[in-house]
Amino acid sequence: MDPMTTHFPQGTPIAVLTTQPLDRALDYRAPDGGVTAGDYVQVPLGPRLVLGVVWGPAAGDWPVEKLRGVARVLDVPPMAGAFRDFLERAAAYTLTPMPAMLRLAMRTPGLGEAPGKRRVYGLGTGTPDRATAARDKVLSVLRDRPADIFALSELADLAGVSSGVVKGLVGSGAVLEQAVPRDADYPPLDPQRPSKPLAPDQADAAETLRASMASGGYGTTLLKGVTGSGKTEVYLEAVAECLARGRQALVLLPEIALTAEFLTRVEARFGARPAEWHSGVTQAERRRAWGKSATGQAKLIVGARSSLFLPFRDLGLIVVDEEHDTSYKQEDGVLYSARDMAVLRAACEGAQVVLASATPSLESWANVEAGKYSRVDLTSRFGVSVMPKLATIDMRSEEVGAGRWVSPTLRKAIEQRIIDGEQSLIFLNRRGYAPVTLCRACGQQVACHQCDARMVEHRFLKRLMCHQCGETAPMPDACPSCGVEGKLAPVGPGVERMAEEVASLFPEARMAILSSDLFNSARALKAKVEEIAQGGADIIVGTQLVAKGHNFPKLTLVGVIDADLGLQGSDLRAAERTFQLMRQVSGRAGRAEAPGTALLQTYQPDHPVIRAILAGDEEGFLKEEAAQRRAAGVPPYGRMAGIVISDPDAQVAFDLGNALARRSAMLEEAGAEVYGPAPAPISRIRGRHRVRLLVKAPRQSPLQSALSRWVASVEIPRSARLSIDIDPQSFL
Ligand code: ADP
Ligand code: ZN
Repeated sequence: MDPMTTHFPQGTPIAVLTTQPLDRALDYRAPDGGVTAGDYVQVPLGPRLVLGVVWGPAAGDWPVEKLRGVARVLDVPPMAGAFRDFLERAAAYTLTPMPAMLRLAMRTPGLGEAPGKRRVYGLGTGTPDRATAARDKVLSVLRDRPADIFALSELADLAGVSSGVVKGLVGSGAVLEQAVPRDADYPPLDPQRPSKPLAPDQADAAETLRASMASGGYGTTLLKGVTGSGKTEVYLEAVAECLARGRQALVLLPEIALTAEFLTRVEARFGARPAEWHSGVTQAERRRAWGKSATGQAKLIVGARSSLFLPFRDLGLIVVDEEHDTSYKQEDGVLYSARDMAVLRAACEGAQVVLASATPSLESWANVEAGKYSRVDLTSRFGVSVMPKLATIDMRSEEVGAGRWVSPTLRKAIEQRIIDGEQSLIFLNRRGYAPVTLCRACGQQVACHQCDARMVEHRFLKRLMCHQCGETAPMPDACPSCGVEGKLAPVGPGVERMAEEVASLFPEARMAILSSDLFNSARALKAKVEEIAQGGADIIVGTQLVAKGHNFPKLTLVGVIDADLGLQGSDLRAAERTFQLMRQVSGRAGRAEAPGTALLQTYQPDHPVIRAILAGDEEGFLKEEAAQRRAAGVPPYGRMAGIVISDPDAQVAFDLGNALARRSAMLEEAGAEVYGPAPAPISRIRGRHRVRLLVKAPRQSPLQSALSRWVASVEIPRSARLSIDIDPQSFL
C-alpha cells in the first residue's frame, strides 16, 4: 500500500506536523473514523487547538492511552503525497524547519472554520445618514474597488477603522452586507477553443511543449525568445495541452502588475479567467483559490512565487515567466528561489516546467548545456515588429550641466518622438529623488539611525526613507548631524529627480512616473500601466518596474540614464544582471509597427558588458560569462551558501561568526571553504549588527547536511539570529 495514502484506523498512534515552531511532528491518537495521511486536522497543544497535517505513523513509543486525540478533521481534501514529499525536500534543500515550510502551505484565511454561508461587505448604493472621517475611509476603500467583496475584519483593516464603523454603514445601504455561499466554482476553461494562428517558429515551439506535456512525466524546458516573439502565446499552448489532459496548470509572473494583461489573454484563449493568487487579491479570493486548487476545480492559477505552495491535486505544468527575474528569490523568512522550487515541485508531481525568458539566467542556460533541461527558441519578433536598434551615448563627449543627466543627444531623440506622437521611456533604476542627501555645512550624509544605510529623499511623499528597513521621517530643515538649517542638498539622481528634469526640458509633454513606491496598491499601478499603454503619456520615467514585460505599443524610444550603474558592484552576477536589465528595458521599445531605438548613456562604451549588450549576442555573452564563472568555481559551476548572523550587540554577532569559522574543518568533508566572518555590506539593519560568512563548495558537494551539522555545533545566543541562504542571490 502506498504509504502516502495510508489510512490510520481510530485509536492508532499517528504523527501530526503542526505549524507551531516545534522541532518535530507530535504524536496523537487517530479519532473516530480514523484519519488518512495528509488530512488537515486540529489537535490540542497545551491549552489550545492548533492546525496541522497528519504526517504518518507516530514516531515515539508512548503508550497509546497516554496520547491526546485529534480534535477535528477538517473538511478539505487531504494534502497530496507528492506535495508532502515536495515540502520535505524543499525544507531539506533550503535548511528550513518543517513547521515553517508547512506555514507556507497553509497560508489561507479561515481554514479551520466550518463551511456554510459567510457574510461579506461591498459597496452599496445608499448614502450614509451621517458622515464621519472613519466612515469616509471605509467608503473610499470600497469606491477604489467597487467590484470586490470583503470579510468584515479585512475591510475594517484596510480602512484603518473598527469593524463597528463598517457595521454602522450597513443600515443606510452605503455598505452592502450579503451572505454568500462559500467559494463558488471557477468558470470552466475551454482548451479546445482555437488559438491565434501561430507563426511557423511559434507553431514548432508550441508543438515541442505539447509533446513534452503529453509525456505525462517530469521535464523542464527553457523557452528562450526575444521580447515580443510571442512566448506567452506559445506557453499558453502547453497550458491548453495540460488542461485537455485534465491536469492543473500554474503560471508564475514576477510582478502583480503584469497579471491584468495576462488574465485578458487567458480569457481570449480559453474563454474565462483563471484563479489568481498574490498579495493583491482579497482574503475571500485567496481562500477560494486555495480551496479550489486543493479540490482540483481550479484548473489554472496565475500567481506570485508563493503560489508554488498551493495544495494542487494534480499539477501537470508550471510556467515561470521571466524566469531570470530576481524577484523570484524570496529574501526574507524562508529563503527560496521560486524558479528552483518550481523545478523541484514538478519533479515531485511528475509535471512539466516551462521557463520563459528573453534573457535566461546563467543557471538555466547552464542546465540546458548540461543536458538537464531542453530548450526551444523563438528568434524573431512576431509580425512586423522588429528588435530595437541599440546605441550608446558616450557621456564623456556630451555637455550636461551640473545636477542634470539627460544628454543633448537623448534630448533630441525625445523631441523627435514628441513630434511624431510616439512615447519615450527614461529609465533609471533608482527610487526616490536623490540617493544621497548631504549637509553642505558639515559634509555629513543623512543616514538611517537604525541601519548602515543612507536615508533617501522621496520628494512626492515629502519624506526621507530608508530602503533597508522602510523607516521614514519628515524631510528636516536642519541637518540631523550639525543642526545648521537650510544646507541639506540632494546628490545624484533618483527617478523623481529625473522626472523634474524631464518636466523642465519638455514642459508641454505629458509625463508618467513608474516607481514601485509611488503606488500604494497593485490596483493603482495596474491602472497606471493600462493608461500608459493607451497612450496616456508622452514620456514615461521609470525604475526597473517598467522592465518587466509590460506592453506599451506606442513606445519607440528607451533612454537609459546610467547604463554603468549595475556594473559598479563586486556582485558575482553584476554583469549578468546588467546585461539582462539593459536587454529587457531596451526590449520595451518598438513592440508594435513603429521600430524602436534604445540609447544607453555610458561613460565606458568599451566595457565588455556594454559591448555585449549592443551586439545583442546572448549566446556569446552567456558562454563568456560561463567560462569566467567556471574558472572561478562560482555558481552555477560551484555552490554557495551565505550565513548572516545578526545581534543588537556587534561583539556577540562576531563571536558567533568566529566560533563557526573556527569549526570550518567540519565542512571539509563537503569540500567546502569558509570565508569570513566579515561585517555585512549593510552592517546594521533595524538596530541589529550583521556579520556574514560565505561558504563555497564544489558543484556536487553534499553541502546542506554538512552545513546543518556545522551550525548545530555552536550555541546560538538567544538575542542572535542566524540565517542560512542556500544559493544566495544578494550579498548585502
Ligand atoms: P513575449 O512574451 O515573447 O514578449 P508576447 O507573447 O507578449 O511576447 O507577444 C508579443 C505581442 O505579439 C503580443 O501583443 C501578442 O498578442 C502578439 N502576438 C504574438 N504571437 C501572436 C500570434 N501568433 N498572433 C497574433 N498576435 C501575436
Ligand atoms: Zn533603516
